[in-house]
Amino acid sequence: MTVLNQQTTYDDNNIFAKMLDGDIPYHKVYEDDKTLAFMDIMPQAEGHVLVIPKQKAVDLADLEPEYAAAVLMTSKKVMQAQRQVFEREGVIQMQLNGSQAGQTVFHYHVHLIPSSIHELGRHAVTQADNNDLAAIAQKLAAVIDA
Ligand code: AMP
Repeated sequence: MTVLNQQTTYDDNNIFAKMLDGDIPYHKVYEDDKTLAFMDIMPQAEGHVLVIPKQKAVDLADLEPEYAAAVLMTSKKVMQAQRQVFEREGVIQMQLNGSQAGQTVFHYHVHLIPSSIHELGRHAVTQADNNDLAAIAQKLAAVIDA
């Protein structure tokens, strides 16, 4: 099968790698030794968070078991915080593998979106206000730390 535009080798200059290196700013929600969670700057709903492993993985195919477990446990923390902060049960967990699936940043990441599949906004289109993202990140982080 031919897969078009598929990126299979890890690019050390991808935007999430730069975040992990501390080279570009982001709104942090949570961090531990194996994962980082931060606000998506083009959210598909208010409170859209991304969770990444501190491992150079392009997509799910590359993810090592210990990082897979860590990402899932961080996702659980974030989802529980989103439920509390946004007072809603429904949170979408989404993850795209390959450009054919719509993946645009080639460092593995899980999307956690307080929304419904019927109301989900468009993917990576509209940039959110920085102050709003900072305020939401602070609220989510406070609940996780509590
Ligand atoms: P995907 O298309 O699954 O690879 O998702 C990449 C996500 O990264 C999209 O939802 C973008 O809105 C988001 N994104 C891109 N650049 C940044 C950035 N600098 N900070 C936070 N999120 C970003």
